Amino acid sequence: MARPILLAVDDDVNVLEAVVQDLRRQYGATYRILRAASAQAALDTLAQLKTRQEPVALICSDQRMPGMTGVEFLERSRELYPDARRVLLTAYADTEAAIQAINSARIHYYLNKPWDPPEEKLYPVLSDLLEDWTAGYQPPFEGLRVIGHRWSLKDHKVRTFLSSNHVPYRWMDVASNEDAQTLLKERNLDAERLPVVLFPDGSALVDPEPGALAIRVGLSTQATQDFYDIIVVGAGPAGLAAAVYGASEGLRTLVIEPHAPGGQAGSSSKIENYLGFPSGITGADLGRRAHVQASRFGAEFLTQRATGLRIDGQYRFIQLADGREVSSHVVLLSLGVHYRKLEIPGASQLAGRGIYYGAALVEAVSCKDEDVFVVGGANSAGQAALHFARYARKVTMLVRGAGLKATMSKYLIDEIARTSNIVLEAQTQVVEAFGEEHLEGLQLRGPSGQLRVPASSLFVFIGAAPGTEWLPASIVRDENGFVLAGPDLPTDGKHPEGWRELREPFLLESSVAGVFVAGDVRHGSIKRVASAVGEGSIAVQFAHQYLAGF
Ligand SMILES: Cc1cc2nc3c(=O)[nH]c(=O)nc-3n(C[C@H](O)[C@H](O)[C@H](O)COP(=O)(O)OP(=O)(O)OC[C@H]3O[C@@H](n4cnc5c(N)ncnc54)[C@H](O)[C@@H]3O)c2cc1C
Repeated sequence: MARPILLAVDDDVNVLEAVVQDLRRQYGATYRILRAASAQAALDTLAQLKTRQEPVALICSDQRMPGMTGVEFLERSRELYPDARRVLLTAYADTEAAIQAINSARIHYYLNKPWDPPEEKLYPVLSDLLEDWTAGYQPPFEGLRVIGHRWSLKDHKVRTFLSSNHVPYRWMDVASNEDAQTLLKERNLDAERLPVVLFPDGSALVDPEPGALAIRVGLSTQATQDFYDIIVVGAGPAGLAAAVYGASEGLRTLVIEPHAPGGQAGSSSKIENYLGFPSGITGADLGRRAHVQASRFGAEFLTQRATGLRIDGQYRFIQLADGREVSSHVVLLSLGVHYRKLEIPGASQLAGRGIYYGAALVEAVSCKDEDVFVVGGANSAGQAALHFARYARKVTMLVRGAGLKATMSKYLIDEIARTSNIVLEAQTQVVEAFGEEHLEGLQLRGPSGQLRVPASSLFVFIGAAPGTEWLPASIVRDENGFVLAGPDLPTDGKHPEGWRELREPFLLESSVAGVFVAGDVRHGSIKRVASAVGEGSIAVQFAHQYLAGF
């Protein structure tokens, strides 16, 4: 594969030479470093590279250039290489213009000149951007293929499993892709038994269980030790923060998570309000970074679902979906929430066959040039609508209330208003879903009465519920299943009911000593990435205090 390209652009030849030298020194082994002495020359170079289908990872441009400013050039470069990372080099006096450009020209970063020493001021920023680019870059395909039916629930589950674990694959619809049929024939595979996962070495898994697929793609499903200081259940922002702090502070940390780390944030197309990421970060990126960070400190991750919690004296045992158990002194429940199901006729039969809940971004590509419906008026629905609008012909948002103002952040409302293929239907509900093999139509009730519309995809974001039914009764929950902790626990006047310790529970401690709770699953939590991260890290402090008692 050709080495990806870093392009430096500056009309001042001395500065250009200095940039090129610095780039070459740090990145020359992995990337090709190209230069252009004007914005127009750079555009010409990009056009040629595009024709030759060569990958461009990063463009670093000076702001003040004759003929075209750096901001104008970087904006135009998006037409040729929309995914390349764009960096503006500015003089200190242009800082304000650079910040504005983050919004207008979607520039990823600006750097003030001079950037000496590059080890401090240049490389950390560029390495970060290049890591992001690499994570999203798809080189010519050499990986897994999934052959299945678009409307099959099993197929949807396999694809969701792979994409939520960041395993690259190519999906082939057996009904419309002749190559898929040829591949099945070549390998003597039954076209009636789908989905099939084909591996580059020629082997195949037919209709695989998640456990078998996890092992085959190299995910870890078995703990390396029997006992840990802390077991974190759920690797959303709360669990990941706990893993980073726990492992970095020397706790033997095990994280249990059936999907790729990132949690609900991983399903969000872009988080724009998390501190420190001025041009936003995708939830998947945030999850990937935190996963790497926690692993670097020694946290161990298991691709498993927790199905039970058993308390035996000072030991806490987590039961896993494959029947195994792991034990620890401390457990952190950071299970987050999942989307509520639509309770209308037709919805349960068509789930996964046109009706999808929350994290179904994997379906976006299948909806290319189709009409898509999104139910819900909160930020999650808004982000999903914007994501689908990039693929679908039209996205209709169905909202029960009079509009989005009361339920959605202003920046999303503004972006939706600017997106011409999103239509908002206020005071409108879905009352029935129709379809034999897959979703074919919806019955809507709106201000002007009932209406039946054709529909093939409906994405549902109607409030969330915690998945805590597997916890023992001793873990006290509110009427909606959220776990109570610390001062929220009901008391008998002196201590929380059922509490067996002499001390009071710590702030994030549940009704069972040593079992902590953080993030969205906690009763009364703020449903935000930042607050989940905060709670996960605070929980580790209490875990230390609890462990100090042993
Ligand atoms: C589409 C969308 C967009 C959003 N946008 C924003 C935004 O822009 N800004 C913002 O601040 N917030 C946003 N949020 C909210 C934010 O994502 C959540 O508040 C945050 O993810 C909560 O983190 P958490 O760790 O508590 O739970 P989660 O992120 O829900 O993670 C919980 C994890 O636990 C795992 N789990 C559950 N049960 C088990 C089990 N039995 N065994 C093992 N693992 C289990 C789940 O698979 C999941 O990965 C958004 C949410 C959604 C859905």
